[in-house]
Amino acid sequence: MGIRSVSIRGVSWLDTSSGEHAKRDIVVHGGVIAEQSGESADLTIDASGLTGMYGLWDCHAHVGGLMYDPDAQGYFEAPAARTIRAGVNLAQAARMGITGVRSVGECDDIDLALSRAHEAGVPPGLRLRGSGCALKTTGGHGVAYPREYVRMRGAMTVDGPIEVARAVRHQVSRGAHWIKAALTGGLYSEHETMDGGQFSDEEIEALMTTANQRGIPVAAHCGGSDEAMRFSRLGGRSVEHGYALDEQAAAVMAKASTWLVPTIGVTHDSSFISEDGWPSHAANRAAASIQRHREGLQACLEAGVRIAVGADLNPIGPRLHREMELLEEVGVDRLTVLHAATIGGRELNGLGPESLPEPGAAADLVLTEGSPLDDPKVLRDPALVMAFGRVLKGEGTEHWAPDWKR
Ligand SMILES: [Zn+2]
Repeated sequence: MGIRSVSIRGVSWLDTSSGEHAKRDIVVHGGVIAEQSGESADLTIDASGLTGMYGLWDCHAHVGGLMYDPDAQGYFEAPAARTIRAGVNLAQAARMGITGVRSVGECDDIDLALSRAHEAGVPPGLRLRGSGCALKTTGGHGVAYPREYVRMRGAMTVDGPIEVARAVRHQVSRGAHWIKAALTGGLYSEHETMDGGQFSDEEIEALMTTANQRGIPVAAHCGGSDEAMRFSRLGGRSVEHGYALDEQAAAVMAKASTWLVPTIGVTHDSSFISEDGWPSHAANRAAASIQRHREGLQACLEAGVRIAVGADLNPIGPRLHREMELLEEVGVDRLTVLHAATIGGRELNGLGPESLPEPGAAADLVLTEGSPLDDPKVLRDPALVMAFGRVLKGEGTEHWAPDWKR
């Protein structure tokens, strides 16, 4: 019999809404925080002296993504090999305090398969919400000719409202948690601009009408204000990147409760961009977008747009921590960053707005030596990481070893 309940004692919990710390003993039962902290548990962890909070979320990830892949590792890579890389990426991320990942564009439903495996606990892993393949139009964002992967499909190319609707329905049938669509150009592909539209009005309407009818949220790769406003007004859930958002777009997004996942690192992290070997068209476009990208984020913060944190870069663990540092560097205060990176991710993914452990909340937690508010670096190597109520790192990990007899 596996462990069903875990008692965690002595932790000082950081409330990322207020910046206050609160001592609270909790019991985790069946993956959620239990009503009664006093009830006996199968396992008791004395965590006196540690600080706790909800785990981090990378809300814009490509779990097996290779970006520009200068050594062509992915060119003939088989789905099995990519799946293994994605799994290792997620395992490392979990050890670095990330308990949730939203995958927005991945080949062959690798993310959806890993999501189901982790939720079932075989093997135990972080919480993964995925879109499977992204939707793009012909010649649209995501083309990196000639380096198309030949053995698997990373995106669905759709033209016209009928194909768009069919693709959304297909993704729903695959078990996708999100629909991802590339509404504008970006940095990656050569023959586009980072804010130029790539879906027609009819295509965006088909996308949103079909997704809304099926009750599935849509995340839009979206650089420009016009598309961000159209998408938000039709019920779009999250604008990704927002390279060139103006105040008007920010106001529309705030009114429509559309989130922003700014992925500030893809324009601001110039040392990573050069190390990663981006081609000149992308590196130049990134550098040229820095100012507008930053101003768009500021406009959204001022308008009250909710923010979640996503790195869009691999490996997920190190890159998400870097994204959080960069957000501070562009002027977002630390508490806002910590809240966006934890509770923002939970709320965007339907796990509720609680910022302290409350009964019924999903038990995705990290415990650190020292408070992340004093030094966020403590989150890079937490003392304990828990997702779905299972300990992924730290005391008690052995209790969730997969049962290979099944
Ligand atoms: Zn992306």
